[in-house]
Amino acid sequence: MCEFCHKHGEGEKWYLQAQNYSKDLLSDLNRRRYIHDFFQSPERKARNVARLDDLNRLPSFVQSVVKPYLVNRQKKTHYGQVLPLEDIEKIFGFVNSVVRLPCVCRHVTVGTEERYCYGLSMEPGGETAMGNIIRSIGADYLTGPHTAGLENISSDQALDQFQDLEKKGLVHTVWTFLSPFIGGICNCDLDCLAMRALSKSYPAMFRAEYTAEVNMDLCGGCRSCMKSCQFGAIKYSLANQKVSIDPVVCYGCGVCRTSCARDAIILKDRSDVPAAANLW
Ligand code: SF4
Ligand code: SF4
Repeated sequence: MCEFCHKHGEGEKWYLQAQNYSKDLLSDLNRRRYIHDFFQSPERKARNVARLDDLNRLPSFVQSVVKPYLVNRQKKTHYGQVLPLEDIEKIFGFVNSVVRLPCVCRHVTVGTEERYCYGLSMEPGGETAMGNIIRSIGADYLTGPHTAGLENISSDQALDQFQDLEKKGLVHTVWTFLSPFIGGICNCDLDCLAMRALSKSYPAMFRAEYTAEVNMDLCGGCRSCMKSCQFGAIKYSLANQKVSIDPVVCYGCGVCRTSCARDAIILKDRSDVPAAANLW
């Protein structure tokens, strides 16, 4: 279990606790202001990620002090965790409204509208409190005339879309807005700021509560899983012409599992894999 499960989930998966999506948390004015600022000025976040190059040039003892400080600060505001499709399905089973919106990260990194982000709310009857906050910002890239705007969709529609996005190789991640409130789920690749931060050795989110493992009896050595892994966790062995997954590198997203036509990959609880149990 990650640190957030202990702090915000009473030892269960924190992102499966309905109270972390609650109306009460979202009604906090500080939190609403934070969400407003987050979507209004995403360029600031992009600049912070760019500055990680400067941080990585500092002596290692300085980095060993500054990085944990920054990560701890970020855990209090906007922090994420990778999660597989089966846990996404559980979340869509209890949230009451879903709004699909343009991705903030792609807006600032590649300047295109990619509809990979989903705001979640607990209001009954399809009202979307997250959607209303985002709509009230009036940011052109979110709701301007040249965008598809915000779409209120059903949980079933959202789950279908997540299945398609997984086939495209995108990694599902859940995000807080002033922790522990969870405001949304995203679909990430290297155009995302969190993934770019990870690639600069800055842990912007937790790994999943799982790691992947290959069943050697089923693996045919086609290597399509290797192409789908965004974390470089899968290696091919010429000796036995099969792949294996390094649990120390694996983030447990499950994307490789979907890419395997032979069902040769499973996800195991991270806590059952000694080499990965304490890696977050
Ligand atoms: S996709 Fe499946 S069969 Fe192909 S190499 Fe990966 S685990 Fe083996
Ligand atoms: S090995 Fe599979 S589960 Fe692990 S990070 Fe790569 S794609 Fe995700």
